[in-house]
Amino acid sequence: MKSKINSRLVGIAVLAIIATAMAITIIYYSLFQKQVRADLSISAKLLKDTHFFESANSDTDDIRLSTHFEELRVSWIAADGTVLYDNDASAETLANHMDRPEVHDAFENGIGESVRRSDTMNKNTYYYAVLLDNGTVLRVATQAQSLWAVTKSVFPVMALIILVIIAICVALSHLLTKQLLRPIENMAANLDNSNYTAPYKELEPFSEMLRSQHMDILSAAKARQDFTANVSHELKTPLTAISGYAELLEGDMVAEDGRKHFYQEIRKNSERLLALINDIINLSNLDRMTGRTEMEELDLYETVLECSEALKINAGQRDVDISFDGEPVKMRGNRNMLKELVENLAQNAIMYNNQGGKVTVTVKNENGRAKLIVRDNGIGIPASEQQRIFERFYRVDKSRSKATGGTGLGLAIVKHIVELHDAKLELDSAPGLGTTITVSF
Ligand code: ADP
Repeated sequence: MKSKINSRLVGIAVLAIIATAMAITIIYYSLFQKQVRADLSISAKLLKDTHFFESANSDTDDIRLSTHFEELRVSWIAADGTVLYDNDASAETLANHMDRPEVHDAFENGIGESVRRSDTMNKNTYYYAVLLDNGTVLRVATQAQSLWAVTKSVFPVMALIILVIIAICVALSHLLTKQLLRPIENMAANLDNSNYTAPYKELEPFSEMLRSQHMDILSAAKARQDFTANVSHELKTPLTAISGYAELLEGDMVAEDGRKHFYQEIRKNSERLLALINDIINLSNLDRMTGRTEMEELDLYETVLECSEALKINAGQRDVDISFDGEPVKMRGNRNMLKELVENLAQNAIMYNNQGGKVTVTVKNENGRAKLIVRDNGIGIPASEQQRIFERFYRVDKSRSKATGGTGLGLAIVKHIVELHDAKLELDSAPGLGTTITVSF
């Protein structure tokens, strides 16, 4: 980026310098031309005012201009265009001058002017002609360098100046780029520093966005680390138990009638492990699905009823009454995920309930929008814990969750599924009274 800005700045500077040099050359050249013409007209008028040519007789061989003008050619032309005198060539050898525009104009209007390129490519000849009182024309001419020649002659100096300016520009642009980018570099270095304010007002939104993305990345990394640590810990507990029980059995350290308990413990812990692994796989699948969940047109009430049999059995085992009611409501969703959602919510309502408790699962059609309500009159959740129960592995009562086979991941999965369906999750709970969880699609 630095070298790009640098080279662009230098490029702009070089263009500007070359354009300026060209413009200055052209302006000076036109001033120079103007000056040459002015000088020429003065010379012509001065010569006219001397009345030297009017008084000269027709024998022009007598004419001797006291000074030999190297730079000034003087011609005297008769009314018919014949050259009577020329200080540069013998007049007789010269052709009739009536066809020269400046001579022609002088006869017509009193004065005439023109510029012609000389044979020597690099020079232009400037002519100025005046009509004398006796009807003849006096013409003066001088040669001056053409624009090309002027440019060529100043080129070495100009090139040197341009090179020096370019060198200065390169150094300055290097400095400027460094200065310009330093705040951005500082900003990148200060991503972790929440007190750091962007040096330019225009950079503030960019800096804010970078910082919040940086924080997101950091917190995602931390969440992943925590999750891995938690998973290892959660897996270790049942495995340690299984291994311990198996060892006791293997070493014949358990009396015949006590063995059944250990077999049961091994089975329970294995089931816990399986449930955990299932939930972890589910969660990681949901993580991968973000943004590309396969959705289909389905009826939410129908989907809920598909889970009812298994839930009823579960509730029966815990002496909890579960009922399903509602109305058909169409929505777009992922059937398997929605079933997982219903099962997790209803499972919790059964698990964290009292003997003889009640659970109702309701599906509503509110203005064409589907709504799922899972209500129980169980133990409830204290207000202080309500925010945290959707975190992975968070449990209000660890021993109860573990005793009932909970993994601490159920509500994290629920939250994920709700997000993938762009739905809203509401929790209303009071300890001792029960819990109502509403999902509005
Ligand atoms: P778990 O596998 O432990 O049930 P969840 O993520 O499903 O994990 O729930 C997290 C915690 O939230 C549970 O351990 C429990 O303490 C609390 N909880 C969830 N649902 C309910 C409910 N319906 N009533 C009371 N507490 C609940």
